[in-house]
Amino acid sequence: MRLLLPHYASKGKQKRRRPLATMHPACVQGLLLFLSLTLGRTGGLRAAQGPNARPLDLAYTVRVDRPTTHLVDIEIVAHQVEQGNLQFVMPAWAPGRYAIYDFAKNVQEFSAAGADRHPLPWSKLDKQTWRVDAGQAGGTVRAHYRVYANDLTGSFSQVDGVHANLNGASVFMYVDGHKPDPITLSIEAPAEWKVISGFSAFTAERTFRTRNYDLLVDTPLEISGDCSVDQFQEEGKTIEVAVHTYNDDDSDHARLLAGLKKLVHVEMAAMPPPDFPYYLFIFHFVPDIPMGDGMEHLNSTQIIIQGSVREATQEALETAAHEFFHLWNVKRLRPVALGPFDYTRENYSRSLWFAEGITTYYSYLFLLRCGLWTREQFLGRLASEIQTLEREPGEKLMSAESSSFSAWFFDRSPQMQETNFANTTISYYNKGALLGMLLDLEIRSRTEGHKSLLDVMRLMYHEFYQGPGTSYYGPGRGYEEKDVLEALNSATGSDFTPFFDRYVSGTDALPIQEALATEGLQLRTEAPPGAGPDLGVVVQPESRGIRITSIFPGGAADRAGLSRDDLLIDVDDQSLVTQDLWTRLKPYPVGANVPITVERHGRRERITVTLDPPIPNLYSIIPSPLATPEQVALREAWLAAH
Ligand SMILES: [Zn+2]
Ligand SMILES: [Zn+2]
Repeated sequence: MRLLLPHYASKGKQKRRRPLATMHPACVQGLLLFLSLTLGRTGGLRAAQGPNARPLDLAYTVRVDRPTTHLVDIEIVAHQVEQGNLQFVMPAWAPGRYAIYDFAKNVQEFSAAGADRHPLPWSKLDKQTWRVDAGQAGGTVRAHYRVYANDLTGSFSQVDGVHANLNGASVFMYVDGHKPDPITLSIEAPAEWKVISGFSAFTAERTFRTRNYDLLVDTPLEISGDCSVDQFQEEGKTIEVAVHTYNDDDSDHARLLAGLKKLVHVEMAAMPPPDFPYYLFIFHFVPDIPMGDGMEHLNSTQIIIQGSVREATQEALETAAHEFFHLWNVKRLRPVALGPFDYTRENYSRSLWFAEGITTYYSYLFLLRCGLWTREQFLGRLASEIQTLEREPGEKLMSAESSSFSAWFFDRSPQMQETNFANTTISYYNKGALLGMLLDLEIRSRTEGHKSLLDVMRLMYHEFYQGPGTSYYGPGRGYEEKDVLEALNSATGSDFTPFFDRYVSGTDALPIQEALATEGLQLRTEAPPGAGPDLGVVVQPESRGIRITSIFPGGAADRAGLSRDDLLIDVDDQSLVTQDLWTRLKPYPVGANVPITVERHGRRERITVTLDPPIPNLYSIIPSPLATPEQVALREAWLAAH
């Protein structure tokens, strides 16, 4: 996924479709079954199936009758039921977002019936499990429930007057013990609405078949009359681009399409051909949402952008670069915890820095290599990532692995209580992207330009995804934390253990300058021109003063005993209502002792602070005057357009 806010900022805080040119009606069945063809090599294994291993014949129906109620009806019919009861389970989370969302909270009006449609008794076992007594079912259990859906994100769903945008884990229960069983899905929606999904390139198609539950929930559905669809071909694959924009004058998608063609071309040239016949981008461009989102899926992605196509094409392409690379890194080459999934609880991984951070690094590199970014934009973004990490107090406390493991606390998890995350955490996107850059440069340097991090990615893809399968889920197996290190060592013929100990498992400062020097580059940090002395706080203006929302550990405010939530009233008797804090502090020299009036719990006191030098927070990556010809050659190979 791709977050468009700081990682700890969850508190308070989106024509007619043409059929495939080579397709004719006789081929439709083959297309609908493509997932089972591509993921069916391991179908004989039924891990975690439990004692009731005989597969059920499962039919799911999605019914959108009155979309303005934001309610969608779900019916699950299980035939060939032999067991005494069936447990229907709503996922607690959705793969790709490492947060417990408890989707069961939006389920209402659950009921169950048997073959003769007489009601069957049922009870709730826990927050997300409904157990239906199948003793009198006559071999068929029909479960029905409704889901309230009014949240356009990559995890929840939205049903309203213009569309039903459904993310499977937020609407579909599974039958406990039967996740591996094949499923038929039927859509009942307004006749003029198209059904757009990774299941089928035919928007008139309303019945699909998937190999198992995991593939059902890995295929978001956009059911709408307002969505345009275009397509293009790349390496024999059909790439579809669905755009739902809420801006009436926003019909020019040419720039978006042209950018996507460049991105898809350069990413597919870099990695092995994916095992699908087509891939679907679902874009929403919405003016009135609080934040955007991006979520990867097996052969599709949901990208939700705040604003219009016209305003936000660049942001949409940046997210697309990230999500498309996920089809290799995390959807197929995946940590062992991420497929098959336990939907009832957290699935921990220490490798999200690799799954997300490396994906972020490559999204930047591919934006450069396909010509959508200049070198200055690319190096500027890396410099910005470096600045972000170096300004995180948590850099010294939390490793990349630990950040990955702790994702469940801050990957858009709701936090009703106050936390100190601003001072104790780092983002595995941010540090992972920088680890990607460091590893890429280190490999290029150690192998004198013969290898790059992409060689490691391709090696791991071959070994883990294209290797023998170990579960019903699909081809290949997940990698363990140690496998990334072993693949690096194997692909490069050198030992990356010390690197991992210090920078992946450990919290040593990243060797940015050393790595950039191998390419004849250097990091420059400087204070902005005219910057005043620093207090080491993050603040928010209020009517009576300025509220401290965060204190930088070891900074001037921290040393003086100022505290989060303090209300700053004045600086040396100069009011902070009529002028902001930085303007008030600017006349003072570095090292000056300045009295500040502070209000805490209604009481005022004066606290004297000793001001620090301006923060050097302008970061740039520039050519080094000391670069050797060999270093310049490495740099050119790294940055060259392909
Ligand atoms: Zn991602
Ligand atoms: Zn839509």
